[in-house]
Amino acid sequence: MTDTIAAIATPFGSGGIGVIRISGPSSFDLAAKIFSKTPADGGKKVPQFVSHRVSHGFICDGDTTIDEVLVIPMKAPHSYTAEDVVEIQAHSGTIVLRRILDLLFSHGVRPAEPGEFTRRAFLNGRIDLTQAEAVADIINARSDASLKFAASQNVGVLRQSIQEMVSILTGFLARLEAAIDFPDEAGAFFYTSQDKTALQSVADKIGDLIRQHKDACFLKTGIRLTICGEPNVGKSSIMNRILEKEKSIITDIPGTTRDPIEDSLTIEGIPFVIVDTAGIHQTDDLVEIIGIEKAKDQIEAADIVLYVLEPGKPFPEKTASKTLPRDKPVIFAINKMDLADGLDLPHFPEQYAGSCSLEISALTGHGINGLRTKLLETCIGNLEIGNDAVIPNLRHKNALVHALEHMTAMMEGLDKGQEEETLALDAKNCIDQLGTITGDTASLDILDAVFNNFCIGK
Ligand code: GDP
Repeated sequence: MTDTIAAIATPFGSGGIGVIRISGPSSFDLAAKIFSKTPADGGKKVPQFVSHRVSHGFICDGDTTIDEVLVIPMKAPHSYTAEDVVEIQAHSGTIVLRRILDLLFSHGVRPAEPGEFTRRAFLNGRIDLTQAEAVADIINARSDASLKFAASQNVGVLRQSIQEMVSILTGFLARLEAAIDFPDEAGAFFYTSQDKTALQSVADKIGDLIRQHKDACFLKTGIRLTICGEPNVGKSSIMNRILEKEKSIITDIPGTTRDPIEDSLTIEGIPFVIVDTAGIHQTDDLVEIIGIEKAKDQIEAADIVLYVLEPGKPFPEKTASKTLPRDKPVIFAINKMDLADGLDLPHFPEQYAGSCSLEISALTGHGINGLRTKLLETCIGNLEIGNDAVIPNLRHKNALVHALEHMTAMMEGLDKGQEEETLALDAKNCIDQLGTITGDTASLDILDAVFNNFCIGK
């Protein structure tokens, strides 16, 4: 039998409304003990709570009225936790909410642990672990895209995908086990071409999900864009223009930016982290040299690099070839186009001939919208957010990697005619790994790790 828990469900501080959530078998009785239809001096009128119907009244502590509130009782299983739940909407102030909560505690309610309401929803089978994790992602979403993506997880897109794979594997495992347990009745195990196709589709799906992990990470943490180039080409000005604020210091003096400066923004709902770096060139200045090394680290850490050039100057082939990455997208921007009249534009050497280059002016804003669009196109390509089960976190990715290892071992074993016991073990391990994602086979440690990331009250 579970106990009854309560916590403040809204953020601390002053606001219009603050919500206290109570969940557990005694929620209705305990809420009734502190709630009255009339203020404290009007004599306590015990309410008759009707599920999913709002009650207006007062929270009273003996002769003292603490606050005028609305109470929403929700009978199990039609509530967030699938238990009896009562939500009290009071005025949002730290003291008033704390007093109501303390009053509940004095009547035997236990303070909720972080994430305990969502944990109960999971344990009561109302949601699976991917949905529980999506709740945390919805709360922490920093952009429209990550919200959309978390919301698709919340309705169970990933769970469905995993269940389809588990169902194919379970059917296959059942036949293997029948052949092991009843060799006479079941006869020899046959690996048909349909089996091969079905198992290959599971392996392909797991592979797809692992690949999508990187794209999903972009959406959660932001796409890292490093702006680099020679000193004074306008890197800081471009950063400020993209951010639409004065983040980086701009001067004519080369070497002004020494430490990388970073800030974040969203473009069309996609989060970006933009990093301005020290100009890369030949120098004996020790501080500048350190800045240049840091710039190189930032290029290394980038998802996409913006290399800035300017009219009237040759393409800096030596510096570019030493610093530009080959394994990630690079966009060239020829800045200061407002000064380009009569000047030659940099001539791109053969190796960069096919690269994307844009003509812009950080001063006038010319080409900046085009640059934003190019950044989006380059980074997210054809990623369809929410249309498929994109995996959102490292825990899922690790489980999928292990699941794929067992799948691969099993499929190789099948081709080699390996004994059924070994094949069955790989099939079981694969199912177990997939089950940790939805929570079907998750250990207590995994549950603790997931729910400890939640705030109290969720
Ligand atoms: P960084 O060293 O590459 O970061 O360059 P800054 O952003 O500090 O700019 C160096 C100088 O170029 C400053 O005087 C800027 O005002 C100027 N500048 C930057 N972008 C433009 C531009 O598009 N047009 C013109 N005319 N000047 C610019």
